[in-house]
Amino acid sequence: MTQRWEMFIDGGHVGSSEYDDIIDPATEEVVAQVARGDLASADIAVRAARAAHERGEWRSLPPGERADVLQRLVDLMGEDMDRLADLHVAENGSTIRTAIGFHVGYAISNLQYFVDLARRYPFEEGGPTLFYPTAAMGRVRREPIGVCAAIVPWNFPLLLAIWKIGPALAAGNTVVLKTDEKTPLTMLAVAELAHRAGVPAGVFNVITGPGEVVGARLAAHPDVRKVAFTGSTEVGKQVMALAAGNIKRVTLELGGKGPNIVLPDADLEVAIDGSIFAFLLQTGQACESGTRLLVHSSIHDDFVAGLVKRAQDVIVGDPKDHDTDVGPLISAEQRQRVLDYIELGVKEGATLVLGGEQLRGAGYETGFWVEPTVFTDVTNDMRIAREEIFGPVLCVLRYDTIDEAVRIANDTEYGLSAGVWSRDIATAMEVAERLESGTVWINDWHMVSCEYPFGGYKQSGLGRELGPGSLDEYTEQKFIHVDLAGERENHIFDVVLSTPPAEDGR
Ligand code: NAD
Repeated sequence: MTQRWEMFIDGGHVGSSEYDDIIDPATEEVVAQVARGDLASADIAVRAARAAHERGEWRSLPPGERADVLQRLVDLMGEDMDRLADLHVAENGSTIRTAIGFHVGYAISNLQYFVDLARRYPFEEGGPTLFYPTAAMGRVRREPIGVCAAIVPWNFPLLLAIWKIGPALAAGNTVVLKTDEKTPLTMLAVAELAHRAGVPAGVFNVITGPGEVVGARLAAHPDVRKVAFTGSTEVGKQVMALAAGNIKRVTLELGGKGPNIVLPDADLEVAIDGSIFAFLLQTGQACESGTRLLVHSSIHDDFVAGLVKRAQDVIVGDPKDHDTDVGPLISAEQRQRVLDYIELGVKEGATLVLGGEQLRGAGYETGFWVEPTVFTDVTNDMRIAREEIFGPVLCVLRYDTIDEAVRIANDTEYGLSAGVWSRDIATAMEVAERLESGTVWINDWHMVSCEYPFGGYKQSGLGRELGPGSLDEYTEQKFIHVDLAGERENHIFDVVLSTPPAEDGR
């Protein structure tokens, strides 16, 4: 019988009157049934998180002891890595290679980073001594915000959750995480591991359910003090509007349309492999994908010929097979969306030079497959160049000068990721400085490093995840002023009280 999973609230499992099927995107089999959360589940989880925050057992632990508990979670996730990777492949369709090395392996190492960061984070530090008008000492405390909501999408369901719960918990907050409807399993498994690691009841809760109901409730809830959201720009705007009700702290990681600029002096072999990697990781369902490839006219035709030849070698198929390079799309709906964009690209006048079809036949009888697809003769006014397709589709655009490449690259409301390929690092750096993007890779792609901030310019987001400032996004700064003089003299009270009281108090 298909395994039934429940939500994890206040240290225990919570079911529901309704259960949703979780579908393996490669086989279309039902791999699990998961309790469907609703408004009441969101409210119960927030109440539990608020009560845990008020009890204070987590936030008042010395940061090092909180880090010890989270270190146990890191260790347990490491021990459970194979099971987590299998769950990830089953619900998300990522290849087993990316599941082990990236989704799970990288999530664990990122959590390790947050644990280490928490041990050296300045939760309380002294500032400069003040001498005017009286001698005083300043302290700055960084205190947890309270109940934090985390809302994550289906494409990186584990990693993006860890980017939120890692710093939130390390900073002493309590958390309610809402998983995406299609991919709740890995994070429900992590919730149990967190419980085993010693995270107290109510401190970390995982709920499920429709985004427009459960996610929207968390974004609007008056007892939630911070919402960290990753997903589409459209929903991000709704979350931001809902969060305004009680002036929540908000971080948003939203969509992208990454421009990938190949300069004429690039090492073409490396740039071709890198550009394929840039648009095909996670079957193109990655916000930071390089989907607009800008190639200098002088190398355009050779580059495209090489890229198409190399992309034909990519193995699309069973994600559980270690030889597979690219897996299925997440759902039939996503496949249709991608196919519709391909049809639109043809209508808009782009030239289809690779793929463009749903994969059919042996090995593809079930599952949500689309061939790796490359369009040339794309111009930046076409919708396929402007809108996020979120599938294995690459748009190639031509340019003649660096100024033109930069103008095209920046001509978008997105600003999450960009890349430059060149042997001349000084020139590549100059281009990088001109790109309106939270991340620019030179001669690489997808290298999101936990040591460095990640996030978007313009409508690709608000705030940053990762990097040394990760915990700043989950703490409030409190300045404490301690007068050291201990005397009436020199205080600025006389701005209001010009005459000090007489000795006898009259
Ligand atoms: P989505 O915005 O539809 O859903 C994301 C999450 O929000 C899901 O958990 C969903 O249930 C929830 N949600 C939906 N409606 C909601 C509402 N009204 N209020 C609150 N929550 C709601 O996104 P998606 O299609 O599932 O994911 C793909 C998108 O995510 C792409 O646009 C992609 O670029 C973006 N993304 C961005 C990053 C980043 O770091 N910038 C990373 C991964 C994905």
